[in-house]
Amino acid sequence: MADILDIAKRRGFFWQSSLIHGGIAGFYDYAHLGTAMKRKWENLWREFFIGLDENFYEIEPSVVMPENVFKASGHLKHFVDPVVKCKKCGTPERADHIMESFLGESFEGLTAEELTKLIKKHNVKCPKCKGSLEKAGVFNMLFPLNVGAGKSVAKAYLTGETAQGVYVNFKLEFDALRRKLPMGIAVIGKAFRNEISPRNAIIRMREFNQAELQIFFDPDTITEHPRFKEIQNYKLLIRPVKNKKSGKVNEILCKDVVSKMKLPKFYVYYMAKAQQFYLDILQIPKKKFRFRELSEEERAFYNKYHFDVEIDLDTLGGFREVAGIHYRTDHDLKGHQEVSGEKMVVNLDGKNILCHVLELSFGVDRNIYALMDISFREEKNRTVLSFPGPVTPIDVGIFPLVNKDRLPEKALEIKNILRGSGLSIFYDDSGSIGRRYRRMDEAGTGLCITIDHQTLKDKTVTVRDRDTMKQIRVKIDKLEKAIKDLIGNDIKFEKAGKPIKPKTSKAS
Ligand SMILES: [Zn+2]
Repeated sequence: MADILDIAKRRGFFWQSSLIHGGIAGFYDYAHLGTAMKRKWENLWREFFIGLDENFYEIEPSVVMPENVFKASGHLKHFVDPVVKCKKCGTPERADHIMESFLGESFEGLTAEELTKLIKKHNVKCPKCKGSLEKAGVFNMLFPLNVGAGKSVAKAYLTGETAQGVYVNFKLEFDALRRKLPMGIAVIGKAFRNEISPRNAIIRMREFNQAELQIFFDPDTITEHPRFKEIQNYKLLIRPVKNKKSGKVNEILCKDVVSKMKLPKFYVYYMAKAQQFYLDILQIPKKKFRFRELSEEERAFYNKYHFDVEIDLDTLGGFREVAGIHYRTDHDLKGHQEVSGEKMVVNLDGKNILCHVLELSFGVDRNIYALMDISFREEKNRTVLSFPGPVTPIDVGIFPLVNKDRLPEKALEIKNILRGSGLSIFYDDSGSIGRRYRRMDEAGTGLCITIDHQTLKDKTVTVRDRDTMKQIRVKIDKLEKAIKDLIGNDIKFEKAGKPIKPKTSKAS
């Protein structure tokens, strides 16, 4: 992990927020490369998931919401973490985290009482000073706010999940749209949780980014999906509850997930789509991906079905959650109806329906971290981030071989041609060509273009592949197409131009 944090700071992916003032735990800033990569990830997500149905849309709700929202959602009561304080040094810690580091298995979802018993039973001590621990209590993670001044001050909170911004808008959107079900409303935005112990850099933060899609549907239609046929023979990678000990991942056809695991088609369809997003769009290796079925104790009480998407991360010692697929039933709309007094029931063809919700929830920051973990490689002479083409922060680096002989002018000319085609480009004319290649390797840039003396003679440039360091010669007028084909993984590198042997193999 230290390697990832080091490269993140050195190259400009992310770092702790307000660092010049000492920083603040649980808050991070995306720097120029991280921001570019996050935007690309979000656009891929947006295009893929909102494109799944013509009745799916994106909205941008406020992150500040009045107290009643969280009364209705149950956050005021249930959005709590078990916390335990050390009697000697006073350090507060998540009780389940202490147990996890002590016994090496997950204790998430256990109540404060259950954890207090376990702490006693195993004689668990403070990880900092070995002092004994108080009884575990609960701590609400919502960030409270006072909005306004004096008499008119109103109690509000920063939202703990983007989903609430969708639920409060359900009825307005349903009426403004075509009054059709299913209706999907997505939000890509910020959420806030006052974590007791934020940790693992951007994996568990107090301010974080979510990409969530809430699909509202008639519960009577859950056993069908009009496009299920398209995925019925697609294999899902699932670690069911019964494989908890072995950790074994089963490959199961979607139609068998329906018949044998007793999951409804509507739910399984979106599991397949989530897996395709990871394997086909983000190009995550199959062996690094799995769905983990959550046991009843691990699930929120309102989630009838709950599978997490997990990616195997070397720096965190195994599979870690990056997304979740939650069947939340009518929990949310019912809660908002009760507290607000507004009717959430809709009438379709004479039938009154209180919609159920299927939520696809993705942690954007965790996904960015996961891509860095999977792509990180250390070789003899260089460090490389081998990002998949669609998420590289920079598409191409452009360099004049030397800073004279009209090569910089020619390089800038080519840069301007390519920029017009929507590619993100980094121009660099400082230092040796080898140093410039190394810098791009650490930024994860897939392709580097070098303009040399031969360019002026025959209108070709050198294109270098990040992962293999192989080089080809490509005609300038064919360059844009070649680059786009290579980024989209549509063509083999050697086929995109004329292969050449690097003159200085060591510095390439
Ligand atoms: Zn202590």
